[in-house]
Amino acid sequence: MTTLAENTTKCPNCKSDLVNCLINQNQSLVICPNQQCLYPFDQNRVDNEIFYVTNEELSKIVSEKVTMKDIFNDEQLKDL
Ligand SMILES: [Zn+2]
Repeated sequence: MTTLAENTTKCPNCKSDLVNCLINQNQSLVICPNQQCLYPFDQNRVDNEIFYVTNEELSKIVSEKVTMKDIFNDEQLKDL
């Protein structure tokens, strides 16, 4: 499985800097902060964008306070 550190990259759709969004204790989803873009939720399989998070990375993500709700509204979250 690809780790988070190997995957700091830009959105293939809109070239925005992707952000790591924690989806559970040890997994993050790399998502595009551009609300017009919605990468990777425009992909057929989001599974490919889920990465194992080490404890070190976990604390970094938590400190950045990036959550799904920062990026998507409730209406969008319902569809995920
Ligand atoms: Zn994008």
